[in-house]
Amino acid sequence: MRYLKLRYEDRDRLFEALRKYGEIYGPVKISKKTYDFRKVSRFDDMDLNYVRTISPPKKFVYPPHEVMFEIDREKGKVSIPEEDMGPIVLFGLHHCDIEGLKRLDSVFMGYPADFYYSRRRKHLFIVGYDCKPDEFCACNVTHTSFSTDGFDIFLHPLPDGWLVRVLSERGQALADEIGMEDASTDDFKAFERYQEERRQGFKWDMDAYVLRGVLEMHRHSDVWEELSEECLACGNCNTTCPTCRCYEVRDIPSIDGVHAIQERVWDSCQFEHHALVAGGHNFRPTVADRMKNRYNCKISPAYGTNLSYCVGCGRCTAFCPAGINFWENLQKLSEVSKHAK
Ligand code: SF4
Ligand code: SF4
Repeated sequence: MRYLKLRYEDRDRLFEALRKYGEIYGPVKISKKTYDFRKVSRFDDMDLNYVRTISPPKKFVYPPHEVMFEIDREKGKVSIPEEDMGPIVLFGLHHCDIEGLKRLDSVFMGYPADFYYSRRRKHLFIVGYDCKPDEFCACNVTHTSFSTDGFDIFLHPLPDGWLVRVLSERGQALADEIGMEDASTDDFKAFERYQEERRQGFKWDMDAYVLRGVLEMHRHSDVWEELSEECLACGNCNTTCPTCRCYEVRDIPSIDGVHAIQERVWDSCQFEHHALVAGGHNFRPTVADRMKNRYNCKISPAYGTNLSYCVGCGRCTAFCPAGINFWENLQKLSEVSKHAK
């Protein structure tokens, strides 16, 4: 890892140099309170003071809808669609979203690797960007508040520019092209001040490792009925989550009787049909069952790691139409556990 400096006036040079790594997507304000990753053509198109986007970066590597096979009965042919995504630069990802992609990698790029995810994932160039938390952020709880890998370069705001952590060879080539200078002692001091302000901004004082035990204790508890009373089972908490990855596979024939596709589409564990199996049995028939399942899934360790699938981004709370607060509920569960006899 190298620690360099990019001056504010050199931001457009960075942007121009990034073009060779693909189309650039960054955080854009799309309504009064909402941001999303959109294609940008200038550095200043981005609003880097955002807290979270409505859709997480998973949509680039694991789209909501993906055709897996195309079938032509006349030709007796089953084929995989051509790749529809070229190189992409994701600019401005916060620590939680970088960690979110790493959690998805642990699922989709283990053995055997998911063909569709892998061929998209190799195209990403990732520029991380530091942030200050709001009341819904809890990456301190999930041990994901500071990424040390999973990016090419990472920008930390300074009074006159950015401290740049350079991780990959591509990041190094980019830094050399722009002629970034070494960070000075004053830059490191400003970086430390920023980190201290960040630490002070976190609201939730819990620990994901402890929460695993708390959830275990509530495996058969009635408290889920109360916590899920307001839940609409709409699935927004899944679609906005950077690490939710359940999907449904559908075969769709065309009306000519010759062609068909097989596709996968995002599914939600909050939907009633999600745990319905052949024979009509539903393993999670109530909203309370499904909420309990989601909380356990999110706090459980990601495949091959000891870190939770939840990366603390706060989207499931910020975008819940019923105002259900994931962290408040986990805190309530912790309180109940403390008083359990
Ligand atoms: S977003 Fe809120 S209302 Fe919708 S399923 Fe999730 S917790 Fe329930
Ligand atoms: S569970 Fe909620 S806070 Fe955790 S990663 Fe998913 S959306 Fe973010």
